Amino acid sequence: MPDKALLQSIHEEALPLLGQGHVADYIPALAEVPPDRLGIAICTAEGGVIGAGDYLEPFSIQSISKVFSLVQAMTIYDESEMWTRVGKEPSGDPFNSLVQLEFEHGIPRNPFINAGALVVSDMLQGRLSAPKQRMLELVRDLSGNPNICSDKVVAKSEYDHSARNAAICYLMKSFGNFENNVDDVMKSYFNHCAIRMSCADLARAFFFLANQGVCLGGRRLIGERQSKQINALLATSGLYDGAGEFAYRVGMPGKSGVGGGIVAVVPGELSVCVWSPELDESGNSLAGTRMLELLSKRLGRSIF
Ligand code: GLN
Repeated sequence: MPDKALLQSIHEEALPLLGQGHVADYIPALAEVPPDRLGIAICTAEGGVIGAGDYLEPFSIQSISKVFSLVQAMTIYDESEMWTRVGKEPSGDPFNSLVQLEFEHGIPRNPFINAGALVVSDMLQGRLSAPKQRMLELVRDLSGNPNICSDKVVAKSEYDHSARNAAICYLMKSFGNFENNVDDVMKSYFNHCAIRMSCADLARAFFFLANQGVCLGGRRLIGERQSKQINALLATSGLYDGAGEFAYRVGMPGKSGVGGGIVAVVPGELSVCVWSPELDESGNSLAGTRMLELLSKRLGRSIF
C-alpha cells in the first residue's frame, strides 16, 4: 500500500530532471506555465488521495481530456457505431500527425491522438446539446470538485493556432468522416483540453478505470468490459509514439497531455496522476514519466 513517505521520496528523486525537457510552446498560453512544477497523487479505495509536491495545483489537462470524451461517446454510441469512425490501433506517429489519415480513408488510428479525439468530439457534438457543459459536469462529478473550470485564455490560444487541427478535421471531412461544423467541434475540443485540474482531482477522477468502471463514490460510470477496453487502448496508445517506451518503463495503462500531466492506473488497485510541464520529444512529461517508473518499481506493480 503506497504511503506519503513513498511519494515524497519519489518526488525527491525526480527533482534533478527539472530543466531537462521543454515546455510545450506551440500553444503560446501553455508556454507561460512555470516549468519547475512537480507533483504526484495516488488514489486508492481505502486511503482516498495522498500526494507529494505540487499535487494540489491545477494545470491544463490537454490530451488527458481525450479519455473523458471517449467515455462519454462510449456511453452514448453502440460499440459497432463507435468503432466504425475511429480505430483501436497504436499509431507510432506524433499526436498531431495527419499522415496515416490519408492512407486509412480518414479513419484515425485511435481515439487518443488528435485526429481520433476530434472525431470523437464530432460524434459528441452530434448527440449532446451542450457538450462543453456536459464535460464539465462529468469531470466535476468524477473528481468531487465543483470548482473545476476550463481556462478561456488557453482555449483561445489553441483556437488562434489551430491550423494543424483544422487541417486534420478537413481531411477527415473530405473522406466523409466528420459530420458537424469544423469550427464548432474544434471549439468544444479546445475547451475540453483547456480544463484545469490538479493531480489530486485527476487521480480521483480516474479511479473508475482502476475499479472496473465504478467511481470513487460508488456510482457505476461504465461497464466492467468497457473499463477493460479503455485500459487496453490506454496501454497501447495513451502515450502516442512513446507508448512502447512507457509500457517498457512503467507498465501501466496511461494517458498524457502536453500540459505535462500523466494519469495511469493499476487495475484493481489504484489510480495515479503526475505533473511536470517539461516534455520529452514525444510530448510526454519527462519527470512525470520518471516518477511513474519509480512508483512501478517501488510498488512492484505492472500489468505485464
Ligand atoms: N490541445 C492539444 C492539441 O490539440 C492537445 C495535445 C496533447 O495534449 N497531446 O494539440
